[in-house]
Amino acid sequence: MTQTVSRPGTGAHEAPLPLDVEAIRADFPILTRTVRDGKRLVYLDSGATSQKPRSVLDAERDFYERINAAPHRGAHQLAEEATGAYESARARIGAFIGAPAEEVVFTRNSTEAINLVAYSLSNAITAKDPAHRRYAVGQGDEIVVTEMEHHANLVPWQQLCERTGATLRWLGLTDGGRLDLSDLATVVNERTKLVAVTQQSNILGTINPLDGIIARAREVGALVLVDGAQSVPHQPVDVATLGADFLVFSGHKMLGPTGIGVLWGRYDVLDAMPPFLTGGSMIEVVRMEGSTFMPPPQRFEAGVPMTAQAIGLGAAVDYLQALGMDRVQAHEEALTGYALEQLQAIPGVTVIGPPDTVARGGAVSFTVEGIHPHDVGQVLDDLGIAVRVGHHCAWPVVRRYGVPATTRATFYVHTGYDDVDALVEGVRAAQRFFGVTPEEERA
Ligand code: PLP
Repeated sequence: MTQTVSRPGTGAHEAPLPLDVEAIRADFPILTRTVRDGKRLVYLDSGATSQKPRSVLDAERDFYERINAAPHRGAHQLAEEATGAYESARARIGAFIGAPAEEVVFTRNSTEAINLVAYSLSNAITAKDPAHRRYAVGQGDEIVVTEMEHHANLVPWQQLCERTGATLRWLGLTDGGRLDLSDLATVVNERTKLVAVTQQSNILGTINPLDGIIARAREVGALVLVDGAQSVPHQPVDVATLGADFLVFSGHKMLGPTGIGVLWGRYDVLDAMPPFLTGGSMIEVVRMEGSTFMPPPQRFEAGVPMTAQAIGLGAAVDYLQALGMDRVQAHEEALTGYALEQLQAIPGVTVIGPPDTVARGGAVSFTVEGIHPHDVGQVLDDLGIAVRVGHHCAWPVVRRYGVPATTRATFYVHTGYDDVDALVEGVRAAQRFFGVTPEEERA
């Protein structure tokens, strides 16, 4: 049944959610369990990792029960079927982001995908094959990130700079939780080799205006890597119109298994890059004196791959595609609007990030005056509500906004208004528990 709600503050009209929450919940076995002495699980931590529908669990189990073999090795029937299932997953995952299969590289997660690019670009300086030196980063070059990045899209670039003598520069943040692009033209300049930027902040929820950033990078001939860990699961993303060179995302945040992620790269760029990890499955010819490497994507997939996980991610994108990414995005936007309105109506609650749904996704971070975020999380947990507390692997962001940490709720396809209501009631319960209920609430 579609959930509706009378939205206080916006009149008494009913705003039905775009997705059928009850039907979707029935697809997620974990949502039938209870927590903390029989309480309904209110899972508001999909931004950290999402729950998995039965079709994803079945796809993985089916692979192990019927097929299990190493793809791209061996001539027996199981190996052939494993190769077919693995490559079919690659093709469907590619189609999900508008990319041909040969541009989809499987990695463990977004973190590994970003490290792959960072190590490949620093290895490029000494690559034996001159064709692999094209995008080499070295002394005097600059890498540009933003102050909004998850550590996964910051620390690998800091490390690349330490290895190569390149310089890291960054775009700052406005007080309103958005990128400050006022110095874009100077920060991204002729020395810039690569711009690495998130499409959607995991902590602020902000959706970034990538067009202008990518256009500036193009003007100076820099590569662009887009961190899609928080966007690809939640909105339609099409690499053909994105205009970037790389896009990374993690399967476990989009209903898929852990241990599988994607590096999408423009084929000509991937083809001009040396490998990151080396070993079996990525070589053309091996002699004692040296080796040559396969073209992409195999060049970047050393060793027996995460086969069941890739197949599970294939099932996850099938599930999302059946729901429709436009509807997934609209669903989360409705929930985000409702949550922002309800939370900001509680005296003492401050949202860290854009206060409305304009260019914003479904990650809602907030502080509660007089209560440490970890204590808020504890009270919510006692009520069966799973949120994330802390710096959310984006330490510079909490530092920028002068808070030690935040409480963060994140939404997904099975989230309903009842989950947001539980969160809002939970925050009020925390205020009562810690004796910080504002005067106006006590009446
Ligand atoms: N980028 C963003 C924006 C994230 O939110 C995360 C994880 O929370 C990552 C990158 C890293 O993802 P993973 O831990 O799956 O590699």
